[in-house]
Amino acid sequence: MNKSHIAFALVAWTLLLVACSDDAPVTRTRVVLITLDTLRYDRFAPGDRRPSAMPLTWAHAERGLVFDRFYTVSGVTQPAHATLFSGRAFWEHGITRNGVVLPEDLPNITERMQQAGFETHGVVASFPLTRRFGYDRGFDHFTEDFSHNLSRGKALWEGHWKIEEGAFFAMADAITEHANGAIDNATSGRQFFWFHYFDPHAPYGASSGGEVVRKRDILKAMPEGEAAVEAQLARARARYDADVATLDRALDRLLIRLQEDQDRYQTHIVLVADHGESLGEGHSVGHGARLHEAELRVPAFVLSPRVEPGRTNALASMLDLAPTILSLAGVETEGADPTSEPNDGRDLTRQGPTPTVAYAVRRTSREKGQSERRLDGSKVPFDGYQFAAIEPSGAIYIGSAEGFLAGETEVPEATHGQAWLDAFDRFENALRGFEQTGPLSPEVRRGLEALGYVE
Ligand SMILES: [Zn+2]
Repeated sequence: MNKSHIAFALVAWTLLLVACSDDAPVTRTRVVLITLDTLRYDRFAPGDRRPSAMPLTWAHAERGLVFDRFYTVSGVTQPAHATLFSGRAFWEHGITRNGVVLPEDLPNITERMQQAGFETHGVVASFPLTRRFGYDRGFDHFTEDFSHNLSRGKALWEGHWKIEEGAFFAMADAITEHANGAIDNATSGRQFFWFHYFDPHAPYGASSGGEVVRKRDILKAMPEGEAAVEAQLARARARYDADVATLDRALDRLLIRLQEDQDRYQTHIVLVADHGESLGEGHSVGHGARLHEAELRVPAFVLSPRVEPGRTNALASMLDLAPTILSLAGVETEGADPTSEPNDGRDLTRQGPTPTVAYAVRRTSREKGQSERRLDGSKVPFDGYQFAAIEPSGAIYIGSAEGFLAGETEVPEATHGQAWLDAFDRFENALRGFEQTGPLSPEVRRGLEALGYVE
């Protein structure tokens, strides 16, 4: 070894020491979005007299900022994810039901991060979020690997989407395995991951072994009377909780892995459920048929060196996550659009004025004339749009352009109620415009038919 070699070795050794010392700044960034399908708020956050049904995940959440009044925009997977990824409200993107392809021109936070130099990885757990609906947009790597059927013999979803070999969803262990694989394979200094889990979704118990309870098991008990229905609901809740426990363990493994890498990557984690689940509330089971707290209020937390740990009661919504994620990623956000609604999404990592109302929409893909069959024997027709206005107190008012829905909701006092009715009227008009042009236009439909995606 000559002198220059020794000098080079000394410099290299010094650089290595600096890189390894505690004082060295962590310049690599990891942004991780975790979406949990169908997870109720009350199974996640501990309440006054009940513990969390997800104690492992809750322990991670306590290191971050937990949102106790976080509301999704729909009880359905695709509208909720469309708002999450675009930062646009439902009246701006027009996606109010499942089975719709994301419009090409819709803004997308993954694309924004990819353009800013992020390496992007997505892993999804169920059919509604596959690449055929556009949810792979902006991802360098996208994993959809489904091994389980939603229900025996069902080949079509939402009436026309063909599901190859019945493969509809993957379970939590498989998603964490794919997720850890994606983390292992990522090499860039700026990384964005999206991991989606499906386990709490019906059929209840499918993720945890043992007996499985389906919605139809509960409906079938109706002729036997209230006690029989209640017994089936109790079984469903127990099996739902078993799936939630399975999810909790798989999430814990992922969150521990991310925590272990924190000295090498500045890690920002955003976790949210796309919607909740009715388990008997208001005589409903499932999600998407109605606007109810059980389906709209969801778990959400941000775990990041940028946020102070704690719990907040401030009203927050799915609309806020796009600006929040871009802010955590250090990617510039656009200025607020002056022509859009006053409650545009806001960066949840910054203190600021909190919104006075959040909105949600319901429009099922079922045809006019069909109805939701409730557990008290009533049938509630699916006719047109319904909207919810959610107050910071958690009060939810449901209605349409015609007025508030009697029997479903208390009617708010006239002064602020009228502002919401005016908003509902604007939403309905905006959404009617989307229906005419249609995100799934005849040309798109023909193209998809040719590819065998629809029948
Ligand atoms: Zn969902």
